[in-house]
Amino acid sequence: MPEGFFMKWEAHTRTAEKILADFDAYHFKKYEKDLINGIIYPDSNDPKPHRGREETIRDCIKKSRERRLEYNSNDSFFYLGMAFHYIQDQWVGLDPDHEDYPRYERVIDRCTILDFGEDLYRYYPVQRQRVLSQFKRIEEVLKTRIKTPEELYSVALMSRPFESMAFLDLNLSYRVCYRVAEMVLRPMLNVSLNERLTQTHSEYTGKLVKMEDSAVVFLHELNQELGQIEAKGTVNGIKKWNQGRQIKTRSQSYKKGQHLEKIRAEYKRITVEMSKPFRAWYNVEVPELKLETENVKESKPETHPGVSVDGKLSPASHLYVK
Ligand SMILES: [Zn+2]
Repeated sequence: MPEGFFMKWEAHTRTAEKILADFDAYHFKKYEKDLINGIIYPDSNDPKPHRGREETIRDCIKKSRERRLEYNSNDSFFYLGMAFHYIQDQWVGLDPDHEDYPRYERVIDRCTILDFGEDLYRYYPVQRQRVLSQFKRIEEVLKTRIKTPEELYSVALMSRPFESMAFLDLNLSYRVCYRVAEMVLRPMLNVSLNERLTQTHSEYTGKLVKMEDSAVVFLHELNQELGQIEAKGTVNGIKKWNQGRQIKTRSQSYKKGQHLEKIRAEYKRITVEMSKPFRAWYNVEVPELKLETENVKESKPETHPGVSVDGKLSPASHLYVK
């Protein structure tokens, strides 16, 4: 095994370990193996050049986010590790076939990874303003937490200043990985939205069915009363007319589904509110609230469209990674 292979591997694993330590509070330690496996995977399984792999980085991050959403944390950490690998390789100053490459790797493996909050300023190659401003721009980007998926991908794909050095390569790439990890993992700590949407849908479907049933019963009662009035003959002309009119109005509003509007509106308001904080990160598909009309035709009279409920809840996700 070539020496360089090993050394590089070590820099990758050190990054993974440091990031796990950084996010220790979230008890991610149990996924260490997955993260490490992911971060070393490309070295033994991807013979293509590892630099300039923007598509792969993007893809790995997306997969990591998707798996996390599916509660498949093992795979999520694996893909996160893979993303780290390609991100870090972007920050290597030399081509692997450069004669100084093995030396570079030995240097990088001796470099300390500073804590995220520590100042890198004094390590910048300050001689030239243009170079310095490149570092300052990167520092500026890394200073704040990522807020959107677009930002996430643009941070992950940031490029290394031309004039840098091993120490900064390692430290800046670690910081990029840190920010990426933070946003892949943190918003995911609260993915209960999926369950809450499913539960709310089920609850409001129940309300809808109940309302539908009582509307059907009410119309039926009105019709029965009308029958009784009619049976009594013409004496009750006004009463009969009133009753008839009420039935007509009720039936019309029933057919338009007006008796269900309030429940639908409430469902919409609640689910929109619920998913608001997630919409920057996911496409949220609120499950549709509806009554299933087909099943009911046999059990209910034709004049009432009939009702049954789409009570079967799909186990599928209501959230899609952007
Ligand atoms: Zn590599």
